[in-house]
Amino acid sequence: MADPKGFLTTGRETATSRPPAERVKDWNEVYVPGSLLPIISKQASRCMDCGIPFCHNGCPLGNLIPEWNDYAYREDWTAASERLHATNNFPEFTGRLCPAPCESACVLGINQPAVTIKNVEVTIIDKAWEAGDVTPQPPQRHSGKTVAVIGSGPAGLAAAQQLTRAGHTVAVYERADRIGGLLRYGIPEFKMEKRHINRRIEQMRAEGTKFRTGVEIGRDIDAAKLRKRYDAVVIAAGATTARDLPVPGRELNGVHQAMEYLPLSNKVQEGDYITAPITAEGKHVVVIGGGDTGADCVGTAHRQGAASVTQLEIMPRPSDTRPGHQPWPTFPMTYKVTSAHEEGGERVYSVSTTHFEGDEDGNVQWLHLVEVEFIDGKLTPKPGTERKIPAQLVTLAMGFTGTDQENGLVRQFGVDLDARGNIARDADYATNVDGVFVAGDAGRGQSLIVWAIAEGRAAARGVDRYLTGAPSALPYPVRPTDRALTV
Ligand SMILES: Cc1cc2nc3c(=O)[nH]c(=O)nc-3n(C[C@H](O)[C@H](O)[C@H](O)COP(=O)(O)OP(=O)(O)OC[C@H]3O[C@@H](n4cnc5c(N)ncnc54)[C@H](O)[C@@H]3O)c2cc1C
Ligand code: SF4
Repeated sequence: MADPKGFLTTGRETATSRPPAERVKDWNEVYVPGSLLPIISKQASRCMDCGIPFCHNGCPLGNLIPEWNDYAYREDWTAASERLHATNNFPEFTGRLCPAPCESACVLGINQPAVTIKNVEVTIIDKAWEAGDVTPQPPQRHSGKTVAVIGSGPAGLAAAQQLTRAGHTVAVYERADRIGGLLRYGIPEFKMEKRHINRRIEQMRAEGTKFRTGVEIGRDIDAAKLRKRYDAVVIAAGATTARDLPVPGRELNGVHQAMEYLPLSNKVQEGDYITAPITAEGKHVVVIGGGDTGADCVGTAHRQGAASVTQLEIMPRPSDTRPGHQPWPTFPMTYKVTSAHEEGGERVYSVSTTHFEGDEDGNVQWLHLVEVEFIDGKLTPKPGTERKIPAQLVTLAMGFTGTDQENGLVRQFGVDLDARGNIARDADYATNVDGVFVAGDAGRGQSLIVWAIAEGRAAARGVDRYLTGAPSALPYPVRPTDRALTV
């Protein structure tokens, strides 16, 4: 156990962010590099080793949080990294990007600020890379079996790493020009610098995983043919179909899906463009959708030099504290101020967009909205609250409706969909088609990186069992039907 009195003597302290005015001038991560190391052992000492660690259940990976908190407290970074990797292939992604449902489930959080679990996690993995403790782990022997993984987001990468380490020959097919899925093209550099992905890809290549970029299964390679070529297939193609806003003026220039806008900025960071082909520079920007994707648009617009940034949300503003109907240890919907919000802009709640207005050249200029309220459980416009706000760039960040069904992947494989339009699977992550498995957002629907990694690991176990016909030694963190105490 870490310090038995740590939670009594030490208050919660988190990573220090760079001043907003400074950090919007660059694309680097928002935190002061190295700010965690001097404080993190004391922070880890706040873990009470409470006996029934609800944080294990809060974390979809079942991370062994009290164990690595203890090692972090003792500054035994090598042992801490070993415990961390026992359940998580990519803690540098979750340690930076996870909304930390574990902290909502922390027992200390019942009546005090929770342990800074996510900050401990990222410190352990950053120290491990620095110390050279993260090395390739190629398999001892090869099984002679082959697996194709479709999609290189966190689910595909986790499945591929687990299956390669189990001795199978794994090729990852990715339609984009670079590996990483939404980690690469979606999540901005200021939330996670892409060098972290590159480092992991190198490790995976050294272990034997093969990567094929610029290949779209269902278009460049027929899905059924791919199935014949490999002994098993994992579909980890994400839930990339974005929800649209079919209101008058949607067709105007300057109204874009968030995922048409954000990846271009990622590509600037990769050196593909000098300036993004869609940029907020000098424009009044309106982001429709109050979630994380919307916040990423806000932070990106700030860095591109927007004249103003307004984020609209149809739902009412969440409460600052845990609502009564979302008690500990659930992951509550509360008002969050992300790093992008600290940097400026306005957030407007309980409003609905009625239409867009453009100039004679077809460029969007104004967004018309109306305030809404719940009447008989339905969001209803409030008469007399119509108004318009300047909008020269509009991004739609209203969520995703499921996996891409236009490219033929679903039809060619013949996989069934569930009632929500996601690829249906059983408790082993197997679809209705023999030898075809599914992991991550493609099966779960739009979710989180931590769930994608957890599902990739679990699906790998199902594949391993299918290929060997024997119980798998790979761990099984979550089942698709699990209803953990998390998002
Ligand atoms: C802008 C944005 C910000 C986000 N921020 C966070 C965050 O901060 N924290 C968090 O936890 N979650 C965040 N999320 C959610 C998170 O990124 C996803 O839940 C996660 O990436 C899902 O992983 P995945 O591997 O299932 O799919 P994805 O990451 O979507 O990867 C799927 C990959 O499959 C490829 N693909 C699709 N079809 C084919 C095909 N036919 N052939 C070949 N390749 C194909 C795609 O190109 C893509 O690269 C964010 C999402 C978005 C959109
Ligand atoms: S992966 Fe997320 S939920 Fe799990 S320990 Fe890390 S921050 Fe917490």
